Amino acid sequence: MLNIIIFGAPGCGKGTQSVLIIEKFGLKHFSTGELLRKEIEAKTALGMEADKYISKGNLVPDEMIIDVITNAVQQLDADCKGIIFDGFPRTVKQAEELEKLMNGLGKPTTVLIDLQVSNRELISRLLTRGKTSGRSDDNLETIKKRLDVYATKTTPVNEYYQSLNKYAAIDGLGTVEEVFERIEAKLR
Ligand code: AMP
Repeated sequence: MLNIIIFGAPGCGKGTQSVLIIEKFGLKHFSTGELLRKEIEAKTALGMEADKYISKGNLVPDEMIIDVITNAVQQLDADCKGIIFDGFPRTVKQAEELEKLMNGLGKPTTVLIDLQVSNRELISRLLTRGKTSGRSDDNLETIKKRLDVYATKTTPVNEYYQSLNKYAAIDGLGTVEEVFERIEAKLR
């Protein structure tokens, strides 16, 4: 199985590249951000609780997210070729729980792909996306908060995967196709 973590700051292109990786390698997509936005749209109790954090640019509590991912992974078809985790893990605690879960299922993670993009470019991309995304968190104040949270709480996940020897840094600047070629070369 090819179990990939696509990683990087908000706006680095995780979602866009996930779609291309899935097409090429036939993987199943797990985006915690998307799963939560669906819960918010459906106005479930989980969605309402999650929205309190998301709209302020904060991370949703680890326990909530780990439950969502554990349920999703356990419902996978037996013939699934692999998974792409998009937006998860975002804390070292989540990473440790993911490793336990996947190792326990005999489906270990393969690699974390760290898409690297400068903050200046990220802010510009997210503000452009905010004009059409309708997302409560794509505005300047919340974007800055999300980038802060990323720097303090999420970047340590990189070191964790480096220590497991499952880490690949990719330059995230360039066209969608150029970035995808770099990822594909790494995965091959
Ligand atoms: P995303 O679509 O990945 O940018 O996620 C949007 C928002 O959902 C984030 O800013 C967080 O508030 C929340 N979120 C998504 N994934 C996670 C996660 N793994 N841990 C905590 N919060 C998350």
